[in-house]
Amino acid sequence: MNLVVQKYGGTSLATVKRIINVAERVVKKYNEGNQLIVVASAMGDTTDQLVKKMNMVSDNPTPREADMLLTTGEQISIALLTMAIQNHGCPAISLTGSQARIKTDDKHNRAVIKDIDNKRIKKELKKGKIVVIAGFQGINSKEDFTTLGRGGSDTTTIALMASLKAARCEIYSDVDGIYTTDPKILPEAKKLNFISYDEMLELASLGAEVLHPRAVELAKLYNLKLYIASSFNNNNGTIVRGVEKMEKKRNVTGVACDSDVIKITIKKVPDQPGIAGNIFTGLAEHGINIDMIIQNLQYNNLNDISFTIHNSDLKKVKEIIYEIAENVDSRGVEIDQDVAKVSIVGAGMISTPGIAAEMFKAMGKVDVNIQMITKSEIKISCLIKEDGAQKAVESIHKQFNLGEL
Ligand code: ASP
Ligand code: MG
Repeated sequence: MNLVVQKYGGTSLATVKRIINVAERVVKKYNEGNQLIVVASAMGDTTDQLVKKMNMVSDNPTPREADMLLTTGEQISIALLTMAIQNHGCPAISLTGSQARIKTDDKHNRAVIKDIDNKRIKKELKKGKIVVIAGFQGINSKEDFTTLGRGGSDTTTIALMASLKAARCEIYSDVDGIYTTDPKILPEAKKLNFISYDEMLELASLGAEVLHPRAVELAKLYNLKLYIASSFNNNNGTIVRGVEKMEKKRNVTGVACDSDVIKITIKKVPDQPGIAGNIFTGLAEHGINIDMIIQNLQYNNLNDISFTIHNSDLKKVKEIIYEIAENVDSRGVEIDQDVAKVSIVGAGMISTPGIAAEMFKAMGKVDVNIQMITKSEIKISCLIKEDGAQKAVESIHKQFNLGEL
């Protein structure tokens, strides 16, 4: 008998009707002769709602009580899902993170799983039960509840799979796989049968929020294959796995577009050692993540330094950037929200020269001007004007024949 770990995300469990639908899928898998562990997220936006309530009660909730509150979301969904499964005459039991002995360190709200004492889970499986486990939570050395950080139920899932040496892991959400680009931007986008861990990590950082990056890291560490699919249909999904087993290497796997970026330019700063250090130390001290950076030498030994941030950091940046700019003798700050970042990702890039040139050519063909470029081993990103994003994605997608995978 194969042990399968399934995970259902919040959208898949958002309503009672959806929970009943998920129960049917679980029962079907069980009746095919599998042992089954099911990890559940909280229903819909329950966790957001709990956070909202918490902030209404207190400006400064203690991390322990925050976790006491946030773990309730998953407790609701595991109980309801288990009842719905039992309705089919199927033996099932729900376990919280603490009952499942998912042991974490002591860092409330962002705990790390240290170990799973899986005796109880194994015992229930042996009795023939479907074991439904609350994602996103564990227990620390003081027997207090902890949570793993937002999106943490993916991490719970992979940790369980590793601990129990499950044969298969299926992650269900409202997205039915990973595409060559966002199908909402480009209908020709093709669903990928396979994607590598590293490509998945790059895409996650670009906003493809199908799988939490921490979970992908963990799967990569243990070399665990994951199957990603939708709970709303029976379409084939995408398998996330190591690159060495790919039957055919692709140079480029996908094109991503992120409009939630902002370009900040600090104008005409002296071309001297230490200036960039000062600027970026100031930003780092305020917890602001910088993505792309470019420095242009102007005349008279003056530089323009531009960098990009995520939209969500704009307010914070506005509070500090003018002072930082003054401290380095700059002649002003420019904030440009009318930009987008278009990126290509592909594990095959490492061994294939000329990929960047192809990408730039594709953008040139549709008259899109490139403002900034960054490149890693398997990703190239270009910052462009936002209104060029659609045609850039289209042209790049075509250039690499991604519609014909
Ligand atoms: N319910 C938690 C959250 O919304 C954990 C998860 O869904 O992965 O972040
Ligand atoms: Mg999630």
